[in-house]
Amino acid sequence: MRIDLHTHSTASDGTDTPAGLVRKAAAAGLDVVALTDHDTTRGHAEALAVLPAGLTLVTGAELSCRLDGIGMHLLAYLFDPGDPALLAERELVRDDRVPRAKGMIAKLNALGVPVTWEQVARIAGDGSVGRPHVASALVELGVVPTVSDAFTQEWLADGGRAYMEKHETDPFEALRLVKDAGGVTVLAHPAASKRGRTVPESALAALAEAGLDGIEVDHMDHEPGTRARLRGLAKELGLLVTGSSDYHGSRKTCVLGEFTTDPEVYGEITRRATGAFPVPGAGGV
Ligand SMILES: [Zn+2]
Ligand SMILES: [Zn+2]
Repeated sequence: MRIDLHTHSTASDGTDTPAGLVRKAAAAGLDVVALTDHDTTRGHAEALAVLPAGLTLVTGAELSCRLDGIGMHLLAYLFDPGDPALLAERELVRDDRVPRAKGMIAKLNALGVPVTWEQVARIAGDGSVGRPHVASALVELGVVPTVSDAFTQEWLADGGRAYMEKHETDPFEALRLVKDAGGVTVLAHPAASKRGRTVPESALAALAEAGLDGIEVDHMDHEPGTRARLRGLAKELGLLVTGSSDYHGSRKTCVLGEFTTDPEVYGEITRRATGAFPVPGAGGV
């Protein structure tokens, strides 16, 4: 059983539509895929409408959080999508995305890069605009060769020259909101240091104490040594261990199912969730 619990569609900064993504997931031989767009569940309806037979969809989102000035991403699975408190908080985060992108563009302009809001908005299409869209604009302009080269201190990494903060949820608050909405939480790529500073391991213990369910260990941004260390830490803290592709379509190099989650861990996630349930595909159009 092949399970990939972290993917993005055009509902945020992926390049495949939600429908295209689930078709590709089935073609890639996945049995379970989670759609986890940044701060939105907007893509779920489209994905569910065409879900191929043999593929199960886990509804989710990747929530932007910030702890002591350090950005972090919390994967939330199978929460009630209509939960008013969680919806209100996600809206706060989302509403801040446009002013934030414009702020980064202004900083880039000040650095002599002729990027415009029109260009970034065109790249984002109807997805919620984010840093990878600004990064793609830098690639278009020939400022950097690839999107990941834009995520450095020179450009858009946390604390970088053109970086701008946005409203992000306190992770302890996010844990509480997701739990109250019947969901399960997994800290995404906790040691992806290329993206900027990462949460100290002491904070992981506090998050585990506060109800975090698991950490994403097998991820393209983690070296094998990092994975081994995180696996040990997860065991110590009683956390589940997941693996996933963090697929963004052609925006990033990873492919669907590049890393996967153990079926037993997946089973435990579904047992803990009460807000929503995985949906098996009936074979869509
Ligand atoms: Zn992330
Ligand atoms: Zn992601």
